[in-house]
Amino acid sequence: MNYVFHLIIFTLGTSIVSFLTVIAHEYPHIKPTRRSKCDVCQRTLMWFEIIPIWSYLISKGKCKVCGEAINKLYLLTEIAGGIFLLAASLTHQDLIFVTLIFTVLTLLAISDYIYGYVYLSHYLLFVPIIIISNQHLYFIPALLIYTLLNLINYIYKGIGLGDIEILSILALLLGLDMTLKIILMACFLCLHYFIFKKRNEFRFVPYITFSTFILLIFR
Ligand SMILES: [Zn+2]
Repeated sequence: MNYVFHLIIFTLGTSIVSFLTVIAHEYPHIKPTRRSKCDVCQRTLMWFEIIPIWSYLISKGKCKVCGEAINKLYLLTEIAGGIFLLAASLTHQDLIFVTLIFTVLTLLAISDYIYGYVYLSHYLLFVPIIIISNQHLYFIPALLIYTLLNLINYIYKGIGLGDIEILSILALLLGLDMTLKIILMACFLCLHYFIFKKRNEFRFVPYITFSTFILLIFR
C-alpha cells in the first residue's frame, strides 16, 4: 500500500510539472479544448504520447512522424518534480503546503525560463497558501526582504522586480532564516553557472525555485 501511495505522489509531481509546462507556454491564450501537438509537424498527439516520462521513453525522445527530437529538459523537469514531491512525502513534510508552493513556484520558474518574466496574475496562486498558513505568516521578514532587495536593486541594479516580489512572498510564508538560505543557495548556483558557463545574465526564478525545494525537504 505504501508503495502505491509513493507511486501516486511521484506521478502527481511529474504530472504537475508536465501540465504547468503547457500552461506557462500558452498563457494567457489557453483554450480548454486544446490538444497537445508536436512543436514541429503540428500533429495532434495521441493520449499515450502525453503521459509524463512514459511518453518520452516509449517514443525514444522523438516525434514518431517527423522524427524531431523532444527537448530533454521536459523529461528532466518532470522527473525532478516527481522526485521532489516523493522526497517531501518521505521526509514527512506538510504535503498540502509543499505541493501548493511547488505548484506556484514551478509555474513561475517555467514562465521566467521561457519568457524572462512572470505574470502578476500567477501570484494569485499564492493566496490559498497564505490562507492556510494564516497563523504562521512572517510580516516583518517579508517587509525587510522587500525593502532590502529594493535598496540593493536601487544601488546596484540587476535584480528583477519579479525576483524581489517572489522572495518577499517566500519570506512571508517561510520566515527570514529560510529566505536568506534560499537567496544564498540560489546565488551560489548562479555563481557556479557564471564560472563554468561564462554567462552573467540569469533567469533567477528557476534558481530560487530549485533552492526552495531543496531547503524545504531538508529543513
Ligand atoms: Zn512531429
